[in-house]
Amino acid sequence: MHKRTKQKEAILRVLRGTGSHPTADWIYSQVRKEMPNISMGTVYRNLKVLRETGEIRELELAGNLRRFDGVTRSHDHFRCEKCGRVFDVDENVDQGINERAEKKTGFRITGHILEFRGFCRECRQGVS
Ligand code: ZN
Ligand code: MN
Repeated sequence: MHKRTKQKEAILRVLRGTGSHPTADWIYSQVRKEMPNISMGTVYRNLKVLRETGEIRELELAGNLRRFDGVTRSHDHFRCEKCGRVFDVDENVDQGINERAEKKTGFRITGHILEFRGFCRECRQGVS
């Protein structure tokens, strides 16, 4: 049984209240509005625990800043090459690709990572 601390609840609330896949710094700045005495270390530690218990996800791609996701069901992401924002993409991806690649290569494939790239609705103006 994992103890649900007040801090953990606040972090989860912040993360689930946004679709922006925020960084740890952003989460920290939001949680501080509610708990002014919380430390960055506490936020980092709780993010790590929440990720390990599967209550949140950490994006595997999306640039060099670690970003977190309060949505744990399987879904993919789109990253804007101009503004850097990350959005959810709910599109069924062909899961047979792992099996086909495994047959072709003889590798034992356990998964793959997919990230859509391009320009978001705001940034595509003028890019076409
Ligand atoms: Zn953009
Ligand atoms: Mn997401």
